[in-house]
Amino acid sequence: MPEKLVVGNWKMNPPSVADAVALGRDVAAHGQTGVAVGVAPPAIALAAVADALRGTAVAVYAQDLHWAERGAFTAQIAAAMLVDLAAGSIVGHSEVRRDQCDDDARVAKKLARAVEAGLRPILCVGESAAQHAAGEATAVVARQIAADLAEARHASLDRLVIAYEPVWAIGTGTPATGEHASAAARAIRAALKRAGLDGERVPILYGGSVSARSVGEFANADGIDGALVGGASLDADEFGAIVRAFA
Ligand code: PEP
Repeated sequence: MPEKLVVGNWKMNPPSVADAVALGRDVAAHGQTGVAVGVAPPAIALAAVADALRGTAVAVYAQDLHWAERGAFTAQIAAAMLVDLAAGSIVGHSEVRRDQCDDDARVAKKLARAVEAGLRPILCVGESAAQHAAGEATAVVARQIAADLAEARHASLDRLVIAYEPVWAIGTGTPATGEHASAAARAIRAALKRAGLDGERVPILYGGSVSARSVGEFANADGIDGALVGGASLDADEFGAIVRAFA
C-alpha cells in the first residue's frame, strides 16, 4: 500500500512571510493522524516556514525548481538551494506549465534534477478542459508520465509522488468525481509500469477543488492515496479536516 499523503500548495499566498509562518504553525498544531502532511509555501517564505516547522511532523515542499545546477537563470531557484529547506518539490504544476511555458521536456529535466539532489518530487499531471471534453484524460496522463519521467534515473525515483490534477478542476470549485480520479490513477499506474517502475508503491494524490466538503469522494476512491490541496489549504482547520479524511 502506498503511503497516505496530503500536501497544501499555497501558491502565491498568504500575503506576507509572517502570515505564512503563522499558517504553517496552525497546520502543525493539528497534530498527527497517521497521514503524512506537507505544505508548499511560496519561495520567499520557504526558509522562514522551514524554520518554524523544524521538529514538527509537517514537511515543507517547494512549488518549483530550475533544471540547471546553477548559473545565469534570473529569478530561478536551484535544487541545491532547496535541499536544506525542503523535503521535496512540486514539479510540473499546470499553473507553471501555463504561465512559465513549461512543457514535458522541461518538466522531465526538473524532475531529474530534483531526484538527483535528493528532493522528493510531486509530479503533477492532468488533462485540460478540451482534452477532458474529448474523453482523452487517461491517454493524456499516460503520455505525460512517459514524457516527464524520461530524464530521471529509475533508481532515484523510489520516493516519487504523482498528483493527478485535471486542469479544469483546479480552482474552479468543481472537483472531478472519485470515479474519474480512480480511472486516471489506473492509467497512471499502468504508465508507471510501462516506464519500468512499481506503480503500486507510488502514492497518487488527487488535486482540483478539494475541500472539507468534497474530500470524502477522494478519500474513498480506489487508487487515490491523498490530496494536493490549493485554496482550501489556506485555512488550517479546513486543511486539517481534509488530512483527517484520509486517516
Ligand atoms: C492546485 O493548484 O494544486 C490545486 C489543487 O488547487 P485547488 O485545490 O485550489 O483547486
